[in-house]
Amino acid sequence: MKKVVLGNTNIIVSRLCFGSLTMTPFQANLSIKEGAYLIKYAYDRGINFLDTAEIYDNYKYIREALKGIKREDYVIASKTYAYTAKMAEESLQQALKEIGTDYIDIFLLHEQESIHTVRGHFEAVEYFLKAKESGLIRSFGISTHRVSGALAAKEIKEIEIIHPIVNKLGIGIHDGNIHDMLNILSDLHDMGKGIYAMKPLGGGHLIGSMEEALGFVRDIPYLDSIAIGMQSTDEIDANIKFMEEGSISDELAGRLKKSRKLIVADYCIGCGKCEKRCRQGGITVIGSRAVPNENCILCGYCATVCPEFCIKVI
Ligand code: SF4
Ligand code: SF4
Repeated sequence: MKKVVLGNTNIIVSRLCFGSLTMTPFQANLSIKEGAYLIKYAYDRGINFLDTAEIYDNYKYIREALKGIKREDYVIASKTYAYTAKMAEESLQQALKEIGTDYIDIFLLHEQESIHTVRGHFEAVEYFLKAKESGLIRSFGISTHRVSGALAAKEIKEIEIIHPIVNKLGIGIHDGNIHDMLNILSDLHDMGKGIYAMKPLGGGHLIGSMEEALGFVRDIPYLDSIAIGMQSTDEIDANIKFMEEGSISDELAGRLKKSRKLIVADYCIGCGKCEKRCRQGGITVIGSRAVPNENCILCGYCATVCPEFCIKVI
């Protein structure tokens, strides 16, 4: 697996990043042993970069997986919603303790919306900059679902790493389209910021056109790495093969497509926009919640209109 340097940092990562939310109780609900096996399997195949977050509650999987791997051979990115110095310290200490490590490579403020949101987190930002000076983290940044979040990284020089949504349809980008996002990311790259993208398959919605969707992000030269959620060795193998060779076998693609389903998060507000958008009759609001049915073809178009971003194909 090809490795690259993340922006102007000295952090070297594989172009494919292991998105680890997929193994948690929120998604595949793997045991710690099963999840750790997957992380180690991916590492043995050249993926040295893992993305997690405090809310994923999966540090214990990582701790188990890293046993036997030299710490400097592995790159961990985590995220927090902390906005005070105290909360930031608690978040970082929790990550260090539960993963069993002396430092975290990349610590991000989670889901930043704009420069105003980042400024509202200034105490946490200051804490992480000090943590960087003392070696507890190696770099600081933000994750965002918004073009205005990416713009914040342009304005704030201390943001070294950005973790934005990038996929061919712009699924999940709240305030613009994919072209708006890419224009900013290209500038950020030129400024020396490290960029690792999330949701190249639109949270699973683009699985039906997997090769095209992955090809789109893979060929963007200013994306250093791409985080993809993986929950089986099949998926790890397929993603590595695709990143390296640009294609996967029809048989493997078929197996992956069959294992997916559409889920609607509990926080659906029953607004009905998904039902109106779907041309297949694949989802209906019943009571105050959207419910998918057998007509759903997992195209993912309904997710592009959900104001709560609560539809996923897993
Ligand atoms: S668009 Fe989203 S919030 Fe609205 S009913 Fe559908 S799933 Fe629920
Ligand atoms: S994924 Fe596609 S087919 Fe399924 S409910 Fe959404 S829009 Fe309809």
